[in-house]
Formats: sequence, structure tokens, C-alpha cells
Amino acid sequence: MKFETRAIHVAMDIHNPSASVVPPISPSTIFEIDAEGRKEGDLHYTRLGNPNRLQFEAVIASLEGGVAAAAFASGIAAATAVLQCLEPGDHVLLPEDVYAGNRKMAKGLMGRWNLDAEFVDMTDLERVADRIRVDGGRSGRTKLIWMETPSNPLMQITDVRAVCELSKAHGIRTIVDNTWPTPVNQRPLELGADLVLHSTSKYFGGHSDLLGGAIVVREQDEFFERLTMVQQMGGAVPSPYDCWMLSRSTRSLAVRMRAHNEHAMAVAQFLEGHKRVSEVFYPGLVSHPGYEIAKSQMDGFGGMISFLIDGGQKEGIEIVGRSQLIMRATSLGGVESTWEHRRSSEDEGSVSPDNLIRLSVGLEHPDDLIEDLTLALG
Ligand SMILES: *Cc1c(COP(=O)(O)O)cnc(C)c1O
Repeated sequence: MKFETRAIHVAMDIHNPSASVVPPISPSTIFEIDAEGRKEGDLHYTRLGNPNRLQFEAVIASLEGGVAAAAFASGIAAATAVLQCLEPGDHVLLPEDVYAGNRKMAKGLMGRWNLDAEFVDMTDLERVADRIRVDGGRSGRTKLIWMETPSNPLMQITDVRAVCELSKAHGIRTIVDNTWPTPVNQRPLELGADLVLHSTSKYFGGHSDLLGGAIVVREQDEFFERLTMVQQMGGAVPSPYDCWMLSRSTRSLAVRMRAHNEHAMAVAQFLEGHKRVSEVFYPGLVSHPGYEIAKSQMDGFGGMISFLIDGGQKEGIEIVGRSQLIMRATSLGGVESTWEHRRSSEDEGSVSPDNLIRLSVGLEHPDDLIEDLTLALG
């Protein structure tokens, strides 16, 4: 079956004995055990597994082309779980412009567990190759290479195939944070990655009303066993209700994403021609330095745009302050367009230029968005 069909029909029969077209929500924390005793695979306690989580995990695994998935209470809980599967002292390469929350978590939280996190320009293959530690010695070997493409907020494009080839040559696992493109636009496992990370709080949820995360895997190996151990014993699991909401939203993911792609392209082209805008970062624009690689690994360019205005922090805040339609809010992936002066919404250590505005293009009519932008830019 094709992507759109799988998004609607896969896994609807998991623990759905009444054959409900819309599967029920199962709030029960406990499940009755068979009179003969518990068998392998039986549900018994909701932290370890429940119908709604199993449904969502099956559908997201199918959409990414993986064999299995583990859902978490947030994107950052999923990211933390992956790092908790490593050994203390292991070396991990992450992109310099990794999602700010993951940078803080890798350094501030996992640093205390002796994770050796190093940040590198992931678009520069030579530099990545140079930083890989193969022999270990006193320092740990490189065990994981982390990618996020397009990156946040500069929309830099990493060549996923090339980094995966390099990693494979050294037996290093790779993970791609695929939150922004979603599997509608980019499927990292097909490009050679081992793991895919999602904050399902964004496009999978799609309506700015739930928090969640997931890891999809290429193989059900010992690493996945560790991951489900962290999921179940770390306990950062999503509620049955959130999983049900996610399965519901996922059914329309493909059509929503295509509209996000189309609207963002129209808005990016408008911004590129505006005299107050000095630079637009959108991988679908031919002027984008990563355009060729993006075209080779993406089916669509997503709903996120960032741009530089003439001026600095003051002018940036003034511009977002003038919108009547686009809402001043962080995060992304909702049906409503949101934007922010990025630097002032990040913590210290932010690498965002002070004249950068980040825009999540929603599903409103692009003409209305362009009218609002015209007003705000003055
Ligand atoms: C939001 C986001 C995260 C973190 O996800 P939460 O659900 O907020 O914990 C991770 N990576 C990217 C790219 C994100 O946009």
C-alpha cells in the first residue's frame, strides 16, 4: 500500500476486538490476565504497553519504512532515551545547530552521565570524518552520529546518504531528527540511517494540542531492546489519549504536509522579493546553498522558513508584533501559522542571528498570509 493509504489503515485492528472504524481510547491502566497465566505479548500494565500506543507505534514505523517504533511522552524524552542506550564515556557527534533543547539535554543532563557530546558542522563531511574517533584510547569511541536536516533555524541541509556511508564504514550508528520534514517529505531509513527521531508534538500531532515523541528503527536488534527498556523503565511514556490523538492526526498527515509545502513555497518566494528581507532560508528555493542535496533526498521542502530582515533584534520584534493573523508563538507544525523573533525565544548559547525571524507556515490561504506579511513588514 502507498503512504496515504497506510496512514489511514495500518494497525487499526490492533487490540480492536469490536472492529470499531475509529478505535476506542483505552484508559485502563491494567489488563486482566488469562486464567492459565500470563503469556508472552499479553498486555498487563499500561506503562509497559497499551492498545493506543501499540497502534501509533505500528503506524509511525510503517510510514518511516522501519520495522518497529517506541513512543515517548515528548520529542526530548525520545532523544534522551537514545543517549541513555549508550555507555558512559561514549562519544557522540551532533550538529552545531542541533535543536536547542537537545543541545541543552546532551550537555547539561547527559553530560553528568559522562556522555561525551561533540558539536560539529554536519554539512562539512571532511570535518565530520576528522572528528570520528575509531580507536578510543583514553577517550571513548564514536558510537552515534546525529543529524537534523533541514536544521534549525538556518535550514542547513546535511547530505544524509553521505554521512551514513561514512558512519557505516566505521560501524557507527546514525540517527536523523526527522521532525521538520516528516516521512511525507524525507525518509531517512531509505537514505541509510539506522534510527529516526520525531517530536510528534509538531506535524504528526499537527494541531498544537499534544506533546509526544518517537523513535523508529531499521532493525529490531539489541539496541532496540535497550530502547524499549528505557521507554518502559524510564517511564517517559505518552498517555493512551495522546496516542489516540496522534493516530487520528496521522491519518491526514500526507495531505496536510503537501499543503504546508505548497503554502511555504509561495510565502518563501514572496519574502525573497521583499525589500526589507535580506535573506530567506528555505531549501526549496534555488538560491538555497543546500537546494541540490535537498532535492535529491526530499520529496517536498516542508513548512518552515527563516529569514533575515534589515535591522536587528528591535526591528525583528517590531515586525512580528505587527501581524494580525500570524500568531506570535514558538514551536511549529500546527494548522495555524506562527512566527517568532528566534534569538529572544532561545536560551543563552543561541546561535540564531539577532535579525532572524522563524516562521511556521500553516494551512491558512497563502494569499491571506502574504497580506499579513506585507502589513507586518511595512
Ligand atoms: C520540538 C523539537 C524537538 C523536541 O520535541 P518536544 O516534543 O518539544 O520535546 C526535537 N527536535 C526538533 C527538530 C524539534 O522541532
